Amino acid sequence: MGIILKNDSRERHVPINDLSRGIARDRIILEKAFAETLNSGYFVMGPKSMEFEKAFAEYLGVESVLGVASGTDALEIAVKAVMPEGKNSILTVANAGGYSTTAINRSGYKAKYADNDSDTQCLTLSTIIDSLDNSVGAVILTHLYGNLTDIVPIVEYCHEREIRVIEDCAQAVGAVRGGRYSGSFGDVGTFSFYPTKNLGALGDGGAVATNSPALAQKMSQLRQYGWSQKYHVDISSGTNSRLDELQAAFLLCRLPQVDNLNSRRREILESYRTASQGGPVRILPADGSHHVAHLAIGMTDRRDEVRSALLAQGIATDVHYPVPDHMQLGFSVGQMLLEGAETAARQVFSLPCFPELTDAEVEQVCTAIKSLA
Ligand SMILES: *Cc1c(COP(=O)(O)O)cnc(C)c1O
Repeated sequence: MGIILKNDSRERHVPINDLSRGIARDRIILEKAFAETLNSGYFVMGPKSMEFEKAFAEYLGVESVLGVASGTDALEIAVKAVMPEGKNSILTVANAGGYSTTAINRSGYKAKYADNDSDTQCLTLSTIIDSLDNSVGAVILTHLYGNLTDIVPIVEYCHEREIRVIEDCAQAVGAVRGGRYSGSFGDVGTFSFYPTKNLGALGDGGAVATNSPALAQKMSQLRQYGWSQKYHVDISSGTNSRLDELQAAFLLCRLPQVDNLNSRRREILESYRTASQGGPVRILPADGSHHVAHLAIGMTDRRDEVRSALLAQGIATDVHYPVPDHMQLGFSVGQMLLEGAETAARQVFSLPCFPELTDAEVEQVCTAIKSLA
């Protein structure tokens, strides 16, 4: 009041995410799903869970989906299910937030790292080949930022050597390559329904997907105490990790919207990329259906300065992820050099990229990007 900013660029704050908007959009169907679940009296592995597992399997084009309690649990269960006898390590990336390392550690195997490619920030066949050795029984491919990696040659290469492939699709639900959905290429695809993911629940949730009846059977035992049938424990590494009935009901409301919302995300990201041409920030592309723009990632060696300039214009940013796995104190990996992962940790930052952003907000972000020199 009284103060008029000459260049009123702080008129609005553009948040990095705002879940209340998607909830407002879906409120009526979510409340209905909530009431139906209350009325059913089923809260764990009831009719909504079965319906969701079936619907999600159909969506992905796979034989089986099993709901679990989180994306990290999905990875742990997948690792325990796929690892061949006599192998003790799993190859993964170091720049994807540490989830795969957490799951590998919890399942009692050793994490090994391949470096990410400098263009996509994902693993590629050549970075994997450079890092494989005889101890590796499985590779976890993280479709980071929403990018479904060029996966077919990787799966072929690994399968020829009896190495299993797990796809971490937590950021890439709905990504498609050659008509096939992420999570349908490897031995197991894992998903997270954490609220900010492209298919988000209203709490924690996750799933594993597979075309193998044997793996489906094993994972269904692993998620429920190792039971072969009620109260009969068949395998010792089981746990309790099930998808809540309420979350399954909410996910059923949202699954039909995923493809449209993913298109909107791509459109937002690509407008940032256009705005960035000729400026100091490289924005990673989402230029096709293989990329579902979970995060809009900029890279620059002047990250602090750029983030401050954006913040001064009301644009919130974040960093995914600041510490590579091999440098996390708690993982105690020991000395190793991963140039790609370390560069990413120094240079990446995330711009607001969620489907409920208004056109005016997207425009405001574009203007701010263009102002960077
Ligand atoms: C979010 C995420 C996970 C973990 O999912 P949670 O449901 O939070 O356990 C795993 N991998 C990636 C790449 C993620 O982004």
